[in-house]
Amino acid sequence: MTTVTATMNQLSDRVNKMYESATIKMSKASRALKAQGIDIVDLSLGEPDFDTPQHIKDAAKVAIDKGFTKYTPVAGTPELRKAISAKFKRDNNLEYSPDHIVVSTGAKQSIANVILSLINPGDEVLLPVPYWVSYSAVTDLAEGKCIEVPAGIETNFKITAAQLEQNITPKTKLIIFSSPCNPTGSVYNYAELAAMAKVIKKHPNVFVMCDEIYEYINFTGERHYSLAEFTDIKDQVITVNGFSKGFAMTGWRLGYIGAPLLISKACEKMQGQITSGTCSISQKAGEAALLADLAPTHKMVEAFKKRRDIVYAFLKDIPGLKVNLPDGAFYFFPDVSAYLGKSFNGNVINTPEELCLLLLSEAKVATVGGESFGDKNCIRLSYATSEEKLIEAGKRLKEGFAKLK
Ligand code: PMP
Ligand code: GLU
Repeated sequence: MTTVTATMNQLSDRVNKMYESATIKMSKASRALKAQGIDIVDLSLGEPDFDTPQHIKDAAKVAIDKGFTKYTPVAGTPELRKAISAKFKRDNNLEYSPDHIVVSTGAKQSIANVILSLINPGDEVLLPVPYWVSYSAVTDLAEGKCIEVPAGIETNFKITAAQLEQNITPKTKLIIFSSPCNPTGSVYNYAELAAMAKVIKKHPNVFVMCDEIYEYINFTGERHYSLAEFTDIKDQVITVNGFSKGFAMTGWRLGYIGAPLLISKACEKMQGQITSGTCSISQKAGEAALLADLAPTHKMVEAFKKRRDIVYAFLKDIPGLKVNLPDGAFYFFPDVSAYLGKSFNGNVINTPEELCLLLLSEAKVATVGGESFGDKNCIRLSYATSEEKLIEAGKRLKEGFAKLK
């Protein structure tokens, strides 16, 4: 014990204050049980179960065979940045020339680069709640102050422009949100983004980081809208995107930003001291993903939509849960507050995280508590897994919830 304490004291306050990512913690717990031979249905991690499309894998193989295995420029190869620039134009009607683009080791690193480049101790960062876990963790790391702007299930977990305005102060430096959203699947429509853009325009010193990593996984029937399309605020917007979700490329570790030059240059400097350019082979794969037809992506999105409908049907069937129909990404965020305070075998379940641990041990289904997303009433389920597994999860969850009295 003394040894552990002494060791902890040797670590920085920075890391001691940091929470382990809840998504990663739950998927670790689920993997550990699976390794013991326990049959777990894992709805914890936001990771597509599909294989990376063949043409993308082939491009990587060619890169290896041609010896494309050296350091690349820190901000990414000129070819990939050119392909990203063309993608922004094709899909988002956005002009970002390659010097406005920085490629990183996953969108996670892109997000960290931006926060660490912008936030000084005490700067306020507005986070519409629920938010993705790493936004708050990296803001804390930068000693920024997270200002939570709450949105519940009754508004489809979306904040209004008026709420945004009420929370902006002279100390506000950055607003961070995702659309389609992790953990709720909510999608901000054109009118909602236009209203936000109007507020942001009034505050020219405030930056907004829009995380669009779920861009393609959108069931609204409309195209994806980017906040940066509102040209009079484009210089305040950092658009984050990546390959993990839309191209089933989680392990390739490839993400990027399109940003004002001030930010892209700062992120390049930051990354140059921490990781340098991301994997050369992944960058060749990313280029192939963006230059080819998006048919494989559209096929995956169709599968996600079917899965969403399966999960919606079983969640609605569980008494007491409040659930909305998400428009994108691959998550549900049901409100489980009716079950908090209930007991199983004499143990009271007080929090969503305790409920998730119970569902893991008793129903053998892995989910994530809402607390790390800033919400104390909900749990998150990822449906990026097969229909068979989802149907099984539905049965198990129904039985699991029924055990709580
Ligand atoms: N943003 C959001 C909203 C996410 O859900 C994820 C999930 N992985 C990321 C960023 C990071 O993605 P990656 O680092 O795999 O590109
Ligand atoms: N973004 C995914 C999730 O939210 C993957 C895990 C992570 O990167 O934290 O589950």
